[in-house]
Amino acid sequence: MANVKTYYKSKSGETKISEHFKIREFASKDGADKLLIDNDILCILERFREYVEAPVTINSAYRTVSWNKKQGGASNSYHLYGRAFDIPLKSSYKNLTSTDYMCKFFNTLGVKGIIKYPTFVHIDTRTSKYHATSSGTKQSYGTVNIPFKGNLKNGSKNIYVGIMQFKLNSLGYSTGNADMIFGANTEKAVKAFQKDKGLAVDGICGKNTWGKLF
Ligand SMILES: [Zn+2]
Repeated sequence: MANVKTYYKSKSGETKISEHFKIREFASKDGADKLLIDNDILCILERFREYVEAPVTINSAYRTVSWNKKQGGASNSYHLYGRAFDIPLKSSYKNLTSTDYMCKFFNTLGVKGIIKYPTFVHIDTRTSKYHATSSGTKQSYGTVNIPFKGNLKNGSKNIYVGIMQFKLNSLGYSTGNADMIFGANTEKAVKAFQKDKGLAVDGICGKNTWGKLF
């Protein structure tokens, strides 16, 4: 599942795409006007920002073909499609102090593409799991505690809905896009998940359902 949209820096670079991120932050670093952003990642970036209690910068997101080549990126890189995001480890982050811990965080949220570098972590929205180091060694990242913040139900709109949708999608319970809006498709997915996990099937993501997800 991906929700890639096209933007132009000249037109909407200063526009916020989510609460804390502007469209220009995802642009190709060679100055290209056009860019692509997979909107499904926004809930992940916002929740990560909340987790580390500090502003998050994006080293590299969308890349044009020529810029990707210059950076030595793979010819089929997810950066070319607006579906990859390189997030640096910063000393200003609270609650985590290593790229390994960052990988654990993203793994917990259901991110399928995670590549650990010494100073940053590459995440992407691929649909089959690839968790590795930059040298290609496969990794099995652990998990972190993602606290429950209150019931989520039809009509709820917030980043917690987003990460719940993202996780359900990663587990094969399709909510549609992880757009942070709890609608009919999301409710259907929550119910299917609850049924499979032996939970009360009420379509509300309360503490028990949250606990099974994260
Ligand atoms: Zn990358």
